[in-house]
Amino acid sequence: MTSTDMNITPTTTTPEVQGVVTVKLTETKSVQIRPWKGGDRKKFKKLIRTEGSEITEKMVTDLLVYGCIVNGDSIALTSSELKYILAKIREISVSDIIEFTWTCEECEHENNESLTFDELYSPKIGNYSTTQLQGKSIKFGEIKNAKFYKTHISKVEEESNIVDMVLHIDSVDDGQDFTLDSLLEWMDDISTKEQDRLYNEYQAMSFNITEVKKFKCKNKDCDHEEDYNFEEIPDFFPPSWFI
Ligand SMILES: [Zn+2]
Repeated sequence: MTSTDMNITPTTTTPEVQGVVTVKLTETKSVQIRPWKGGDRKKFKKLIRTEGSEITEKMVTDLLVYGCIVNGDSIALTSSELKYILAKIREISVSDIIEFTWTCEECEHENNESLTFDELYSPKIGNYSTTQLQGKSIKFGEIKNAKFYKTHISKVEEESNIVDMVLHIDSVDDGQDFTLDSLLEWMDDISTKEQDRLYNEYQAMSFNITEVKKFKCKNKDCDHEEDYNFEEIPDFFPPSWFI
């Protein structure tokens, strides 16, 4: 490299974040996301090649989701929000279309599907409000301590959905003199019926995605519908990310 080459790159300007998009998740929470950069991919490749250490989901989401959210450190996402935001970042970084082929069990017709992430996930914006539990008023709201939430939820082994719900309790009878443990003990004490009712109400207030699972065979002589498992979206990360 000559000295002339080196002068090409200015070093004093602040790099602008290109292609930032705002995604609304609840009535009180929107996040700004940016596309993946070369540096993110480099770190991802390093992560998946690291031998002798187990790659956790948290390591990947910290890198490829929270790392691409403006002020990601102060944001906490539920599991549905995480899944959706990961897809939206993929949408602005790679493509908004997911393409895949499935073979019909009945007629062996090869079906080519092409759909967007919003078609696949059908997002519903959340809106937290108040409900009742054993004569007390439970107000749900956004997570205030994102760091605590992220660290805690990644360690929970049983019923992380209940822990997630409890962490979204903003006040009980307008007071906040409770601890996470005291709320979890309360959840242990109430009937499963009452807990399910509370959880269903919390779910209805939260950001949700309804995933498309059934696809109809495109052979006009066939009525077969296939349940497609989207546990792993084909080519979610381009093949070049694994080379
Ligand atoms: Zn068929």
